[in-house]
Amino acid sequence: MSAAGTGECAVIGAGIIGICCGIRLLDRGFQVTLYDPEPPGSMTSFGNAGGFGFADVVPASVPGVLCRVPGWLLDSCGPLSVRPGHFPSMIPWLWRFVRAGRCSEVERLSRALSSLLQPGLADTRELVGRAGLKSLFTERGALTVYRTHAAFCRDRAEWRIRSDQGVRMEELGADDIRRMEPALEQVECGWYTPDWCNTTDPHAFARGLADCFIRSGGRMERERVASLRTSGKQVGALELGDGRSVPVERVVIAAGAWSEPFCRQLGERVLLQSERGYNTTLPSPGVVLERQVIFGEEKFVISAIRNGLRIGGTAEFAGLRAKPDWSRCDRLVDIARRYLPALDDRDGTRWMGHRPATPDSVPVIGPSRRMSNAWHAFGHGHYGLTMAATTGRLIACMVCGDSTGLDPAPFSISRFN
Ligand SMILES: Cc1cc2nc3c(=O)[nH]c(=O)nc-3n(C[C@H](O)[C@H](O)[C@H](O)COP(=O)(O)OP(=O)(O)OC[C@H]3O[C@@H](n4cnc5c(N)ncnc54)[C@H](O)[C@@H]3O)c2cc1C
Repeated sequence: MSAAGTGECAVIGAGIIGICCGIRLLDRGFQVTLYDPEPPGSMTSFGNAGGFGFADVVPASVPGVLCRVPGWLLDSCGPLSVRPGHFPSMIPWLWRFVRAGRCSEVERLSRALSSLLQPGLADTRELVGRAGLKSLFTERGALTVYRTHAAFCRDRAEWRIRSDQGVRMEELGADDIRRMEPALEQVECGWYTPDWCNTTDPHAFARGLADCFIRSGGRMERERVASLRTSGKQVGALELGDGRSVPVERVVIAAGAWSEPFCRQLGERVLLQSERGYNTTLPSPGVVLERQVIFGEEKFVISAIRNGLRIGGTAEFAGLRAKPDWSRCDRLVDIARRYLPALDDRDGTRWMGHRPATPDSVPVIGPSRRMSNAWHAFGHGHYGLTMAATTGRLIACMVCGDSTGLDPAPFSISRFN
């Protein structure tokens, strides 16, 4: 294998994570090829809410969350659903999710998420500048709002964690919120997190970065990687869907929710689920929001997207192949109308994407345990867009054998083995 920075590197997956890894590996002098049967940024990175949640250092499993799960599951409009046929295959993941919600674990995981999110704004700004994407990037913060003071108080422990991790935040009353977002009704209190940014078009953002990757000398191969051929402690070749076998010197697995089979082929266990999220983009909503708004009770989000509003959220566990349940989109629009009575929902476009979810909300970023020339970069769950630029920088450091300055243990695949 050639010395770090002078050889070639294959990246499996051209979502936002694979693209950012590709750019950063090119910076280090590697010849990089991204393999994906789909156009860059056209899967989960296509239609997300466009939020850079640098302030969101709290994992999904927190003390008390389990008590709320049965209520969510029984509510057809609730933020969480598990399809019955999928439940048995989720048991190991769920068990780990429950364990991740212990107080000591939440503290450890928040610290890990914070270490990844803190450099996020600087890393993202740098890529935004280089790729010429300033017109798609806004820095206006986000509002989290509550209809009732009781719900606000119920989430207080999560906000304390953010504050402990140094997140800037400001408590707001109804009048403050009305001043910031005059279109919103029914809200009593909330939080403003200034260090939250947005893209007004996640797909154009990913495409813009993919163009930057190509301009910088990267290659794209529109082909599925069917399997990894190993020899001893090395990945020797990629077996492609069209039957070709391509020798590789190094490989980064960045196939989002589709990454687990590659780990299995390397003899590594990982707990990864597709956490399906839905949204509807309204082209002429008839109301204006200045910044992203997160609704504390129902756990959904409205984002200002180029020429419209995107209303989305929910977590549905049904695997990678089940048909979408589009009624989840419609229910979210109905709920949104409670807060925005003037909302015009005509001509909406519905979308579903597969968040690559680990049970502890921490992505898998680091070297393979088994192969000396393979690295993992997947499992970013709700925050792949947010963490992409930093993940790319960290992976490039790791591939070169440099120190990342960050404790690698919480991100390592070893935690599942
Ligand atoms: C409704 C919703 C809202 C969201 N909102 C936000 C948000 O506001 N902010 C945020 O930060 N994140 C958000 N997310 C999460 C974010 O979209 C994901 O974390 C992120 O897109 C994951 O990126 P990725 O590159 O890992 O995966 P993907 O974008 O899914 O890319 C993986 C790629 O791997 C390719 N692939 C799969 N199998 C193979 C194979 N065998 N060979 C080659 N290639 C393969 C796929 O074709 C795909 O292009 C949201 C997600 C959803 C669903």
